[in-house]
Amino acid sequence: MQVQTTLPWAEETNEGIFQRVYCELSRGRKLARVDFRVKPYVNTMGKLHLRGDVLEVAVSDLIAGAPATVREALAWILLCKLFRRKAPAHWVLHYRQFMNRREVRRTHQAVRQSRGRKYVSGPRGEYFDLGEIFDQLRDKYFEPLMAKPQLGWSRRPSRWLLGHFDHAHNAIILSKLLDGPDVPKLAVDYILYHEMLHLKHPVEHRGSRRRVHTTAFREDERLFEGLKEAKEMLKQL
Ligand SMILES: [Zn+2]
Repeated sequence: MQVQTTLPWAEETNEGIFQRVYCELSRGRKLARVDFRVKPYVNTMGKLHLRGDVLEVAVSDLIAGAPATVREALAWILLCKLFRRKAPAHWVLHYRQFMNRREVRRTHQAVRQSRGRKYVSGPRGEYFDLGEIFDQLRDKYFEPLMAKPQLGWSRRPSRWLLGHFDHAHNAIILSKLLDGPDVPKLAVDYILYHEMLHLKHPVEHRGSRRRVHTTAFREDERLFEGLKEAKEMLKQL
């Protein structure tokens, strides 16, 4: 007797998920094709490009094997961004809950380390939690799937270097000086925002010149709400 090897209720494919969500968001429009790829991304969990009626989807291998509902959440978050719409809160929550599961975080941590990360002090300081602030800033200013780099505080409270982004290790380090009871949160927000812009804007090389703060970087920096106040506060420190 022949045993059936494919289940009659076989799971929807990744292409199918993106096709269906796209169709819902565009009120019935259909894509010619979805090109789905898995990449060793660590800075983002996924990216989309719409070329005509072909949707190119690239997803990090860290999430490619997640349950179907999580991949659907990913589809909603990415496609809503494409349509400039707010992603449904329950999908965002579902995605975050999955990413916050202990075993998922552990796996990601291990993969990052094997891809050449250094150990950084945890995001939680005495007064400020950089992980929380990162989430707030990402939701307000950046891509919804922007992956968290390593976040930490410097060992010594440097005055001249309040924050830096370490490309080699994909880590944002803030000066321990900022983790104090008299430091306004807006000041910490601003420094972290600036460093997050380094994730978004890669260094430009023109000939032998290396530009870290490009024009596009500076333009984005001006979008920070309370920029003037934040800069004033930092002078007072
Ligand atoms: Zn900078």
